[in-house]
Amino acid sequence: MIVLAKASNLSFTLHGIPVTNGIAIGRALRIAPSAMDVKHYLVEPGSEQKEEKRLLDAFQVVRQELKTLRASLPEAAPEEMGAFLDVHGMILADPTLTEKPLELIREKRYNAEWALATQLENLLEQFAEIEDAYLRERASDIRQVVERVMKVLHLGEDHQTIGSFYKTVSENRELSEVIVVAHDIAPPDMLRFKELAFGGFVTDLGGKTSHTAIVARSLDIPAAVGVRSASELIRQDDWIIIDGDRGIVIVDPSEFILEEYRHLQSARKLEKKKLLRLKYTPTLTLDGQPIDLMANVEMPDDAALALDSGAVGIGLFRSEFLFMNRQGKMPDEEEQFWAYRKTAEAMKGLPVSIRTIDIGADKPLDINENGSAQYLSPLGLRAIRWSLSEPDMFLVQIRAILRASVFGKIKILIPMLAHAQEIDQTLELIELAKKQLDDEGVAFDPSIQVGAMIEIPAAALSLPLFITRLDFLSIGTNDLIQYTLAIDRADNAVAHLYDPLHPAVLRLIAGVIREAKAAKMPISVCGEMAGDASMTRVLLGMGLTDFSLHFNQLLSVKQEILRSDAGHLRQSVDELLSAIEPAEIQAVFEKINA
Ligand code: PEP
Ligand code: MG
Repeated sequence: MIVLAKASNLSFTLHGIPVTNGIAIGRALRIAPSAMDVKHYLVEPGSEQKEEKRLLDAFQVVRQELKTLRASLPEAAPEEMGAFLDVHGMILADPTLTEKPLELIREKRYNAEWALATQLENLLEQFAEIEDAYLRERASDIRQVVERVMKVLHLGEDHQTIGSFYKTVSENRELSEVIVVAHDIAPPDMLRFKELAFGGFVTDLGGKTSHTAIVARSLDIPAAVGVRSASELIRQDDWIIIDGDRGIVIVDPSEFILEEYRHLQSARKLEKKKLLRLKYTPTLTLDGQPIDLMANVEMPDDAALALDSGAVGIGLFRSEFLFMNRQGKMPDEEEQFWAYRKTAEAMKGLPVSIRTIDIGADKPLDINENGSAQYLSPLGLRAIRWSLSEPDMFLVQIRAILRASVFGKIKILIPMLAHAQEIDQTLELIELAKKQLDDEGVAFDPSIQVGAMIEIPAAALSLPLFITRLDFLSIGTNDLIQYTLAIDRADNAVAHLYDPLHPAVLRLIAGVIREAKAAKMPISVCGEMAGDASMTRVLLGMGLTDFSLHFNQLLSVKQEILRSDAGHLRQSVDELLSAIEPAEIQAVFEKINA
């Protein structure tokens, strides 16, 4: 039905998972997976003919290549081999493949690679609809021929990634009006988008707390992930509305709908502006309970923004982002030291918790050659497990953090601990790094605090192991929910089961806060739940006083805190924790937020 509506150019709506609040209106910029490793740019006006010739020359080289191959086939070669080369020759001679890209160069100034990739996609789409299996399979021949041409075009060219692709294309457009549509955007690629304030993005894959979604949230741009076939159904330059609150994507909206959303968009902007008035208001509940709002950051440059938003520290520096997009080359001690030092100095003496590298699962270090990311099992060698399996690398990071610790109030936060021996091994490595630095006469904070992320149910249920060994704790609700409910947080197929209000989740979080508080152990929440204003009252009612969240969510959470009576909420949250049926939980939750 959706496809019919599309064919007649009617508006249609796609549903996905909301990632950030707000509304984006703009034109689609499709990034097809096949286009990931293809160079994209608009050629200079007047250079169209030159670019056409570049493509025609490449066609000619491949034509010649195929002829030579055909002529040099040994007698004993199987017959199909010759037929296969003939088919490729015919494809290359077919104007369906060759003329459209030339037209795209002439009329849209696409570079040759982009023009060819675009036509390849069009043809592949058409082939996918062919019923005859034999003919349908000819699609792979077309792809192979195009790859040959691409190779010739690429000769001596650098590998280009999604970020530079976007940058070159966007030079010719108003960024805020560009909506990126892709099958998936891996965190390393999202990171590149940090420099570019585009309007929004839509992906087929992803879940609410996938790291792609988290980076989008930190960019504060409306986005919808898990919008299953978006990248197939949305065409280049289609008008799109992203309703980030509801995870809805409206394609080719009518003038009437467009106008409605433009109004909504201005209203949202106004609301945001109004929130700025709270920037310097002390964060206290109605009954006078002071609350600390800290920031989650990905890069040192985020620190200044965090401070500006009124954060009283950095509760989570996701250091793994420093390690991404490096083509396998890790940042050395010096580079890491400067990154941590810069962050600490930018925070002007406020606390900064640097979480040691949390790589694995949906956070690959790199994008591989074909432009895709290799995701690993969330149950595998991730975070501290990986660090402990690579002690030399881990020691480099700890030394860098320790050295930076004299330039601010730095703490070390360890991700994904579950076992006593993991804590002990980590602490031993920290001691070793301290000893090395001591021997070298290098300064560091000898009483640097070390804390743990509580993000595995096993950790939440064995808190004394942590309390007796460490200085502070921070609940990672994203992983705690993932591991408690056994749902891969990046997998849109199970995203509907992601439920912060599941009684098991609520009880685990409340239990950790209660137990830590009773032991006078500093406890915070740094998962996405801390930045979700609809969960603020629940967390306050559980006794939480330290939140760490994206700085652009800080004021809306602060607004909730200012309106809340923590004492009152304790009772309602007790009621929430004793409820077990979803309807009952929902009713108490609504009452809490009423
Ligand atoms: C979490 O798991 O809640 C968390 C804060 O860490 P990350 O999202 O980086 O896994
Ligand atoms: Mg985590």
